[in-house]
Amino acid sequence: MKLSDPIDSISGIGPKISEAFKQKEIVTIRDLLLYVPRKYDDFSHIVPIRQIKPGQATIKAKINNVKTHRARRGLSITEAIANDETDSIRLVWFNQPYRQSGIKTGEVYYISGLYKLSNHHYAMINPSIELESGVPINSARIVPVYPESKNLNSNIIRRAVSKVLPLAEKLKEIMPEYIIKDLGLCHFNWAISQIHFPQNAMQLEKAKLRLQFNELFPLLLANELSTRQRLSQRSPVVAFKVDLARSFVAKLPFELTDDQRRVIWQIYKDMQSDLPMNRLVEGDVGSGKTVVAVMAAVMAIAEGFSVAFMAPTELLARQHYSTVKSLLRSLAMDDKLILLTGSMSKKLKDKTTTKANAIKGTFIVGTHSLLTSNIDYNDLALIIIDEQHRFGVDQRMTLQKQTGHLPHFLSLTATPIPRSLALTILSDLNISRLKTMPDKRKTISTELVAPSSFNSFIGQLRQELASGRQAYIVCPYIHSKDKTDKQSLEYVFAQIQILLNEYKVSIIHGQLNAKEQESVMKNFVNNKIKVLVATTVIEVGVDVANATVMAIYGPDRFGLAQLHQLRGRVGRGVYASHCYLILNDASQPSPRLREFVHINDGFKLSELDLKLRGPGAIYGKLQHGKSGLNLLTLDDAMLINVARKAVEIFFETDQKLLEYKSLMRLVEQAQQLTYLN
Ligand code: ADP
Ligand code: MG
Repeated sequence: MKLSDPIDSISGIGPKISEAFKQKEIVTIRDLLLYVPRKYDDFSHIVPIRQIKPGQATIKAKINNVKTHRARRGLSITEAIANDETDSIRLVWFNQPYRQSGIKTGEVYYISGLYKLSNHHYAMINPSIELESGVPINSARIVPVYPESKNLNSNIIRRAVSKVLPLAEKLKEIMPEYIIKDLGLCHFNWAISQIHFPQNAMQLEKAKLRLQFNELFPLLLANELSTRQRLSQRSPVVAFKVDLARSFVAKLPFELTDDQRRVIWQIYKDMQSDLPMNRLVEGDVGSGKTVVAVMAAVMAIAEGFSVAFMAPTELLARQHYSTVKSLLRSLAMDDKLILLTGSMSKKLKDKTTTKANAIKGTFIVGTHSLLTSNIDYNDLALIIIDEQHRFGVDQRMTLQKQTGHLPHFLSLTATPIPRSLALTILSDLNISRLKTMPDKRKTISTELVAPSSFNSFIGQLRQELASGRQAYIVCPYIHSKDKTDKQSLEYVFAQIQILLNEYKVSIIHGQLNAKEQESVMKNFVNNKIKVLVATTVIEVGVDVANATVMAIYGPDRFGLAQLHQLRGRVGRGVYASHCYLILNDASQPSPRLREFVHINDGFKLSELDLKLRGPGAIYGKLQHGKSGLNLLTLDDAMLINVARKAVEIFFETDQKLLEYKSLMRLVEQAQQLTYLN
């Protein structure tokens, strides 16, 4: 067998299991070996039966008196007695009638499982058993527990992995030998075999460190490479004019918050240098990021430079255009402002482009299509990217080709990056935070809605609509998975139309084309549509002050940051607003949702999200394929030091790592991940 062989070449894996593996993108034996356990059960300590205590335990015993009976409909119980020299205990299996014929009385087994009270008697429940004479994989050792799915439990995965484990030998080392030696790391192939079936706890830790290193090192290296690449470029110097800043502030209809002042000051300082700025402004929805960005832009335009302001949608671009227009009017600079969007006719686009190219120091607002337009960006000093975490390497390169230089970068986001993640992985990014909100905002109450209180939720929704307010209802996906699926947009739309038949209810989602989406949004803004059933397309988007209800179906399918973003769509006007998390069933809501109800601070939520789900889950959606962040945590100083040291070695040794192809592939992938600008 070879690493590249399909997994159904492993004996015992038929079409059903191989299909289940495929669902997890596990196709070859190599993929299987790289599929790491989620956790471990330590069954390595074998206790004499007389000393067994409630909890996980392993014994070495003979098994006899195996009996199976049906308890009630659909439930079979297999019972047996295990005994060693010291004592005997009961074993119980639920719905595993095959145990009856599988057990050889008289043979000695390792028996591992949970010893606890069951039906008034202590017993070991659903234990794993393995012949002492064989090589144990389910008992009498540290046993791996894998992420499971339908048709694919840890037992099956363990059996499959154990059969191909010797092939781990053949996995190629991705790091050069001298780095491994210098850092005292273990080899990759050894780490893989230990991560599945560790000899003991210490070896497991070593293996984990190595595999975490494999995840962290490319991220750090990619970040360091991009820092160096950025700092090797030069950007236009934007001089600071104190009078201009003063008169801008004086003409604002409000006082800037202290945070806004601090952040704009940081930006001005960055732009006075010829080193390209790379700054992210984080602040909850409504924290006033736009005015900060416009203040930065004004300074550049006044110097005769151009500025590009890119929004994620056309609708938002239009909104920004009118905001910026009124801000610039007070400075008599509004003749510099230009809107360019993808949906403009070719004729209008050409006209706009000609105009933009004719004047010096333009402020161009648009979507990402700005990058591919014919606008002459020779004098571009600043790019502002709103609500878009990712500005890829490719886009940066395109821009550099077009302009011949790198402009300053300013990104705005309502989804903060957790501190520890920013400090370790994204040190190329300078972060400014707007923590205080301009105070006119209304608080948003958040409630979990169990199925039993669904009707009361509808009552409250009805009341808001009756007082003239509007509502968003967000669903995790569009189409129903099956007949019992009650959280698809399809289902919810039908349901809400019936329940609120006197109100105009519409839908919006990514499968509608841009024109349709825009017309729906327009009608919602104009208050013609009262209830908008949507997917997360509304996550970044319009500001409808009259909307006071945000109901989210299937809230467990969203990250906390995303839920918070969605919640921020309401409470934008003078009315008190409500966020309802509609639970699918009556089971206990997850701890994260219960926390979410009480935390109104996006920064706190982002830290909590990182703690609960790990960096892989947070940035996982940006990662392609299987080489995601599976084991990485950022609270291990030792790991971070080792990876930093490796980056140093990389630069000290003439960057020879570039010759290691598979490593560089990881670095390239990481660059897609770390370029948040
Ligand atoms: P976001 O950070 O979500 O992009 P915006 O920049 O759109 O927020 O600002 C939200 C609203 O708050 C806008 O109407 C803006 O004019 C207003 N605003 C911004 N700064 C202040 C402030 N310091 N005081 C009062 N209102 C402000
Ligand atoms: Mg904004």
